[in-house]
Amino acid sequence: MIKLDSKITQELYSINQEHRVLLADGASVPKLGQGTWYMGENPGKQKDEIEALRLGIDLGMTLIDTAEMYADGGAECVAGEAIKNMRDKVFLVSKVYPHNAGLRNIAKNCENSLKRLQTDHLDLYLLHWRGSIPLEETIEGMENLIKTGKILRWGVSNFDTRDMKELVSLPKGSHCAVNQVLYHLGSRGIEYDLINWQKQNSIPIMAYCPIAQAGTLRRGLIQHPDLKKVADKHHATPIQILLAWCMRHDNMIAIPKASNTAHVLENARVNTFTLDQEDLQKLDQIFPAPSKKVPLDIV
Ligand code: NDP
Repeated sequence: MIKLDSKITQELYSINQEHRVLLADGASVPKLGQGTWYMGENPGKQKDEIEALRLGIDLGMTLIDTAEMYADGGAECVAGEAIKNMRDKVFLVSKVYPHNAGLRNIAKNCENSLKRLQTDHLDLYLLHWRGSIPLEETIEGMENLIKTGKILRWGVSNFDTRDMKELVSLPKGSHCAVNQVLYHLGSRGIEYDLINWQKQNSIPIMAYCPIAQAGTLRRGLIQHPDLKKVADKHHATPIQILLAWCMRHDNMIAIPKASNTAHVLENARVNTFTLDQEDLQKLDQIFPAPSKKVPLDIV
């Protein structure tokens, strides 16, 4: 566990709380949050995961994203322990499976998430991806949860532009607060139309896999010499450049997941520098923006 000077902790907390994204209902959330996928899978790692999330909250990354799917509810349990006694500081997001997002199950499943998270409400509840239940029914279920105070707002995940257009054309569909989609330097498909469409419709994007997850996908990115040059220029790391790059849009929230406190601290420092035009051009040359519509990338 990293021990940090309280002055540094406070400085990073303030910086990260200042960088915010405005939601259509007037609330605002920090641009830099924390993911929880793969947390709660292994009881032996739980202590570290809780410590990592708590450190992130102390450093101003107070938006926490989880889902009933992750570790079959185990990630929600970890998040619940992490935010205990700090619930009022946190903007809490969870997701419902598509097959549970109909009127028969959504209230029960939301209640189960609330129990695991040890809270009485979610700040945001997302449909994890589009399934076979009609969108109208999910919207009604979500709106009922708002009426009963179980959630404050709802949104979707893994919706491409066509799905978003259909969603907002439905009654109360425009109440959708965010769309959570995959976005990182190596996967820029949403730049073709989704980012701008959501901007025009005041629906922020929550970027998942902002640091391209572990494994082969990341290897090509992280080791690129030009990415390293940009990182060196800012006395930063390639991971921090990936995060800063993702968060350069004013309607973009990023939710990197880190279960290691050193990683949390590295991620928390991303708002201490800004990429300039020269950096962005260099990164565009290595990983160009899409010139045509490509299907939405999904993990
Ligand atoms: P990320 O891009 O956030 O990458 C997570 C991986 O990066 C972990 O292995 C983590 O390791 C590692 N890592 C984190 N910080 C650093 C660092 N500074 N240096 C080196 N390695 C680092 O991928 P995720 O798939 O986790 O996406 C983020 C979140 O988005 C998820 O956790 C989840 O909440 C959400 N999500 C949503 C999806 C959806 O369909 N809506 C799909 C996928 C994700 P370690 O844990 O060891 O620190």
